[in-house]
Amino acid sequence: MKALQYRTIGSRPELVEIEKPTPAASEILLRVTAAGACHSDEFIMGVSEEEYFFKPVPLTLGHEVAGVVEAIGAGVTDVEIGESVLVYGPWGCGRCYHCAKGDEMNCEKGMRAPGIFSDGGMAEYMIVDDARHLVPLGDLDPVTSVSLTDAGLTPYRAVKSALDKLTPGTTAVVIGAGGLGHVAIQLLKALTQSTVVALDLGDRQLEFATEVGADHVYRSEPGAADSVKGLTRGLGADVVFDFVGIQPTADLAAAMVATAGHVVVVGVASGAVQIGQRTVPLDVTGRAINWGSRAELIEVVELAKRGAIEIHVERYSLDEATEAYDKLHAGEIKGRAVVVP
Ligand code: NAD
Ligand code: ZN
Repeated sequence: MKALQYRTIGSRPELVEIEKPTPAASEILLRVTAAGACHSDEFIMGVSEEEYFFKPVPLTLGHEVAGVVEAIGAGVTDVEIGESVLVYGPWGCGRCYHCAKGDEMNCEKGMRAPGIFSDGGMAEYMIVDDARHLVPLGDLDPVTSVSLTDAGLTPYRAVKSALDKLTPGTTAVVIGAGGLGHVAIQLLKALTQSTVVALDLGDRQLEFATEVGADHVYRSEPGAADSVKGLTRGLGADVVFDFVGIQPTADLAAAMVATAGHVVVVGVASGAVQIGQRTVPLDVTGRAINWGSRAELIEVVELAKRGAIEIHVERYSLDEATEAYDKLHAGEIKGRAVVVP
């Protein structure tokens, strides 16, 4: 079968021919119907050899996966051959306290996420380790739904965790209106009565943010903090969601958050907001989000079924997958790049 693999640290991913896997006991073989390209894959491919801590290469990419059940291993029950499913990605052990709560991304044994710590779904077929990691898709289109598993789930957890701060009349800022951020804007519009402000680099991205519901958009530059203060009687944003996570965006978040506000960091990079008596307004809280729980994935699928959120998708074949990653790398994707094998 064809698979898109990260094979040499420091190089771009390659399309290769590998053996089609067979499911062992308790495993499920999916025929992949769609796989999303996430900026976290760019992070993985940007880590140096000394600091690389993911599945040793070759690594089949793809942690956002939808598929149809092709075959099941011994002992798998309650899964139908031919069933259309989404894959819950942050696989944990299933038995520790966090896993018992459905927060498998916080598993005490560490995550075994496909496409990151085991082979993923950017391929014609993929093995899922356990039936509990499948969420029925029903009639939803796998191509427009696949990214609910990360570009939907992660901002959903981020927004949900901040809802107590987002009372009617408050202001929320989304920094980075890309794959995750454009869903965050829609989630904020669907779940709150807050004013939603988006920051991104260029006109194209800011127009996109407006298309998906942002009330105000500004270029992501230091002056944006004053623009947000101008909108909020000088008080600042009640919640800032940073989907970039570099130091300039962390500094922006710190400069625009209001007293008793909240900063949620989602972007995987080295930026940091320092919580302290002299660094941010008083009573500010912060949180770094890790993906989402199994229950939250089911909740976000329900939001999509009800039309509350819609992922903007650019389609690519597996043969075009390297091109999709090149465009993601260059910041040229509008919404999410989805590979359809
Ligand atoms: P993306 O490339 O689709 O979107 C990034 C957006 O940020 C783009 O619109 C880009 O123009 C914009 N941007 C870049 N630099 C900016 C800046 N300085 N100021 C404002 N905007 C800027 O990426 P994505 O797939 O949406 O992922 C976003 C981030 O979230 C990545 O860092 C990714 O690794 C991370 N992520 C984290 C988790 C988690 O669990 N914490 C899960 C998935 C992704
Ligand atoms: Zn991701």
